[in-house]
Amino acid sequence: MNLTKEEQKYAAHLQRFIQCATVSNANVDRVDWSQFEKLHEAFREFYPHIFSLMELDEVGQAGLQFHLKGSGSDKKPLLLMAHQDVVEVGDGRQWTFDPFGGELIDGCICGRGTTDCKHLLLAEMEAVEALLAEGWRPSYDLYLSLGYSEEVYLENDVDGAEKLTRNLEQKGIRLGTVVDEGGGLFPVGDKLEAKIGVAEKSPVNFEIYANSPGGHSSRPGKGTALGTLAKAIVAIESHPFPYRLTPLTLAHLQKSARLQEGSRRAIYADPEGHWKELCQLAQEDPALDALLHTTIAFTMAEASKQPNVLPSHAAAQMSVRVLQGDTVESCEGYFRQFLPEGVEIRHVSGKDPLPASDPQGYGIQVAEKVLKEQYGDKVDVVPFLMLGGTDSHYYKRIADNVMLFSGYRRDERWGAAHQVNEKIPADALKGSVDFFKKFLRSY
Ligand SMILES: [Zn+2]
Repeated sequence: MNLTKEEQKYAAHLQRFIQCATVSNANVDRVDWSQFEKLHEAFREFYPHIFSLMELDEVGQAGLQFHLKGSGSDKKPLLLMAHQDVVEVGDGRQWTFDPFGGELIDGCICGRGTTDCKHLLLAEMEAVEALLAEGWRPSYDLYLSLGYSEEVYLENDVDGAEKLTRNLEQKGIRLGTVVDEGGGLFPVGDKLEAKIGVAEKSPVNFEIYANSPGGHSSRPGKGTALGTLAKAIVAIESHPFPYRLTPLTLAHLQKSARLQEGSRRAIYADPEGHWKELCQLAQEDPALDALLHTTIAFTMAEASKQPNVLPSHAAAQMSVRVLQGDTVESCEGYFRQFLPEGVEIRHVSGKDPLPASDPQGYGIQVAEKVLKEQYGDKVDVVPFLMLGGTDSHYYKRIADNVMLFSGYRRDERWGAAHQVNEKIPADALKGSVDFFKKFLRSY
């Protein structure tokens, strides 16, 4: 692979980032914070203009929040974010390279964090640094906000992204657009799908349970608490939430119609007109199914600890992903109507989903213009619903719109996030840096 000087520089910088083992942990006392300091040293070395021109607030254990005052415009501030932490290595024996070696092998930078999400951290920092070095100054207020606990929910402290959000809130700042990880560019035949996340489903956990006096298994009578609970599970699973179209899912399907093949193209182009066919498709396609309703998954269960003892308590955990339009309360009410006598339900954790950002919001319009410049007519911008969560949900309360998009073009050489042998092609870096440069200039 022939890399230009510029591409070599990006690759070398990302290699250094990967060599910092910034693994987060739910217990802050178990985190090796010196690895974050090492990463910050690399930032200071690589990005002198960011450090000299932007105001820096250090927030929490390792959060960095940079601010550059705009020269004056009526636009609300733009905030670029990324998290510095990575997930743990997992089974080290399955890795074919050192997860924190940052080696360049067969044209790929290898290691934990290359695709989640030090690649985004790199693209955002490189773009801002390059523009500042050229003398560019934004008319709008620009923030860079780098978290340190995205991959975990802290048990013994407040989450980093919550602290970073509070830091802005205390200054009375209201943001226009927040850009975070999530979407990217995906080749579909000879076209390119630019997936931009504008909402997230909310992960909520419920427990259903049944109690009984227990006793010896030789005298069960008419059945056990576990059997009663099983009836409740079957009843709930046989009543999935009805399918419906949110404004975002409608926009998503219509925008991605051009990228579909066969009958899907017509169905996606007019989902309301092909409602029956769409529902049929969703029965066979769990990804489409998840877009059309709140989903239910029973994932854990417990009852007696011994075969000859009747359970005095049987419980099952339900992982529910709540779609915009439903709430924790409405879901609980929905489940309650299917519970047989003797089964109770309780809300364990999770909150109502946040409203979706506008799929036609200003940031997306700018991104679309920039992507057309970069990739021509073959790119289609498709707003989508994230099924997982990112740190951006903390910022949502002080932001008009959130845009989940990395500017990266994916291909088969990538080694996936959170898995062993995570890696990214070195020639993929420039495309994202260029996207952010153009985006910042055009915003
Ligand atoms: Zn991530």
